Amino acid sequence: MSQARTRFSPSPTGSLHLGGAHTALFNWLIARRHQGVFILRIEDTDKERSQERFVEEILDSLTWLGLPWDEGPYRQSERLHVYNEYIEKLLERDGAYYCDCPPGDLEARRQEALARGEKPKYDGRCRERGLKKGPDTAVRFKTPLTGVTFWHDLIKGHIAFDNRELDDLVLARADGIPTYNFAVVVDDITMAVTHVIRGDDHVPNTPRQLLIYQALEAPPPRFAHMPLMLGKDRAKLSKRHGALSILTYREMGFLPPALNNYLARLGWSHGDQEIFTMEELIQYFSLEHVTKSAGIFDEEKLLWLNSHYIKETPLPELARLLVPFLARIGIETPDPQYLARVTGTLNTRSKTLVDMAERALFYFRDPSVYDEKAAKKFLTPEAAPLLEEISRRLEALPEATEEALNLMFKELEAETGLKMGKLAQPVRVALTGKSESPGLFEIISILGKQVTRRRIRRAVEFIQEISHKG
Ligand code: GLU
Repeated sequence: MSQARTRFSPSPTGSLHLGGAHTALFNWLIARRHQGVFILRIEDTDKERSQERFVEEILDSLTWLGLPWDEGPYRQSERLHVYNEYIEKLLERDGAYYCDCPPGDLEARRQEALARGEKPKYDGRCRERGLKKGPDTAVRFKTPLTGVTFWHDLIKGHIAFDNRELDDLVLARADGIPTYNFAVVVDDITMAVTHVIRGDDHVPNTPRQLLIYQALEAPPPRFAHMPLMLGKDRAKLSKRHGALSILTYREMGFLPPALNNYLARLGWSHGDQEIFTMEELIQYFSLEHVTKSAGIFDEEKLLWLNSHYIKETPLPELARLLVPFLARIGIETPDPQYLARVTGTLNTRSKTLVDMAERALFYFRDPSVYDEKAAKKFLTPEAAPLLEEISRRLEALPEATEEALNLMFKELEAETGLKMGKLAQPVRVALTGKSESPGLFEIISILGKQVTRRRIRRAVEFIQEISHKG
């Protein structure tokens, strides 16, 4: 393939969701794979529904995902003169005509057709009237009355439509605003797009667009229609299935490579490989291996990939990423060195950065409450003297290194005849408030002697209070 020019062309009528990011990624990969150009085009001709904040959100999402565009963002609202030029061309070639059918009449005829059980279509009544441009005239395309329009879809294979199914679509409304099908064709021609890769909900638009290319004598691009993403119940993907906007995933502590890896594997495969770096994706990705059937959104798999990428992120980088998530739970400006050590104990056990920040909390705050089950099981009257003994021995240690702690607990095991679990669990609950945490010696060496002993004292006090009450 020679140089590819692909485009992602969202309408800024909402946030960028997983489906949009899926389309953007496939376009981006094809452009990168073929040393091409990835174009970003904002389809904002629907003034009522388009919002500037969504434009910003889309740009922000693509930047965060690491899918930078090479050209654009173009905005359709700034290109009305280009569409007008092409309208003129079509009118000159007798490929389009003015229509003054009042919207009310069109609607009434639509309803009549529906009542007769027919598919509503424009009846072509202005087609041969030779109307001139007027204040209330729309421009309609002269769709061929016979013949078949077909293409070889790079994902779906051969697709054909009978031209009689298609009516004379409006190209530009009376207010001069072009319709989607026309603006897209003019843009794809003038931006020299080679591959149109988009959701398969656009399949019915493609024959209409191909006929416009024909009428303009412009060679069409290749088309690839991606299957839509579905929920586990095979219904259209929605919030209900846990599918959220890209920026919400950022808020939830997902990492861009996890989302990209997840989306790349949705509907595409390369042997049985699951984990791909961006470089590998660029190297291996091809539309021929995209499946025709819909991909099912699987949140568990996305979480699994996210854990993987958290594990893979170098610790200083991971610590930096964690800072805003800690800030959200009240831990401001942690010492970077301390934080790097903390991060190193959590990177293999956290699913998201939110999860990681929550797990990190005890490194910064004494537990305010103990997990009820853990306290009941481990902060018992029998544990109190043990905790006190551990605290005393800790005090005597020159330095609470992991090796020194290991030795200290080994000795205690031998002396008391108690198993490590019996000795360690009360301390763990005292330090973290929970019965599950990173390795105890790691924790103590990070918290330091003073904090550890303070928390043990608190736990002993807690045991005493409880037994008095009991
Ligand atoms: N603006 C269209 C959409 O958001 C995309 C059009 C296209 O890719 O041709 O669905």
